[in-house]
Amino acid sequence: MSKSTLNLFPQLLENNEAKRRIAVDILNGTLFHSIMLVGADGVGKRFFAYQIAAALNCEKKNDDGMPLPCGECASCKKILGGHSLDVMVFDREENGSFGVDKVRELREDAVVTSNELDSKVYILDDFHYMTHQAQNAALKILEEPPKNVYFILLCRDIQNVLETVISRVIRFDLRPLSEDSVRRFLDANYGGETGKSVEKTNEIVKFSRGSLGCAIDAVTADSERYGELIDEYRMPEKVLSLLTKRSEKLQIIDIINGLSKDRQSLAAFFSDIECAARDIIAYKSSRDASREYYITEDSVMEASMSLPLRKVYMIAVLSGETREQCLRNTNIQLLKDKYVSGLIKIINS
Ligand SMILES: [Zn+2]
Repeated sequence: MSKSTLNLFPQLLENNEAKRRIAVDILNGTLFHSIMLVGADGVGKRFFAYQIAAALNCEKKNDDGMPLPCGECASCKKILGGHSLDVMVFDREENGSFGVDKVRELREDAVVTSNELDSKVYILDDFHYMTHQAQNAALKILEEPPKNVYFILLCRDIQNVLETVISRVIRFDLRPLSEDSVRRFLDANYGGETGKSVEKTNEIVKFSRGSLGCAIDAVTADSERYGELIDEYRMPEKVLSLLTKRSEKLQIIDIINGLSKDRQSLAAFFSDIECAARDIIAYKSSRDASREYYITEDSVMEASMSLPLRKVYMIAVLSGETREQCLRNTNIQLLKDKYVSGLIKIINS
């Protein structure tokens, strides 16, 4: 293999190990036929899948010095532009179902020879929504696909995927990007946008949590939607500030009960509270600590003045444990109730 690592999936930021392993296998002709990309919404799973499809079919993939995928040949252009009939996305029906009918359709389609490309690629989006019955029905084709057919499963909630499926795919976990990468992306692509202040960039970098999808949503949102996004991000900060006032218990209960029932967003909320609490702990011990959650130093300073270290530490532990439980199959309402009573116990202690 003569390509430098810089030339492997140059359009994708970070996640270098996944990029390297997939690219090397493509160049050696040994890529496993069923791949699963796991990661949060907006982290770039679908974009990555199209890049893999292009790399598999790139006409210049063996040319020295060319990036992989080259992005210029006819195949790359067609695939990356979303125009190839041989790269297909399968996902839920409009009514939300992702069942055996879809799998049957997939099996029938996969045996038909490709139209124009060497390799046919099926992107199974939001795979975690597929019913267990349908996942079972897909096992055989995932294990023994027709020749030159690849499946790329995109998945957010891995706990909804059967072990038998996971054991038949090669899995790559895509990590959220660093704040630096998000900032560089925003500067490069939206830097000239009028009215965008440094303060707004800082906000977007924080609340996108390493997801370019979220960052793009935020930077292109109108002011009303942007306000909603910021309010949502500030919810953990609000809860922590309410905790300093014993009289505000009802408001805390309302906030927690009003949170989304979606496991991932809920887990993100608990994760943010944990990060906020850790920011406060770090600020109390060394003033110049870097911040995971709080956008400005003033806000973390203010929060750190009103909560004692011991309580902040307990809040961090409680929130971290609740986040873990949230990602398992725990009952959501029970989880929220337990979290609220845990918070109140800490405050009264
Ligand atoms: Zn190409």
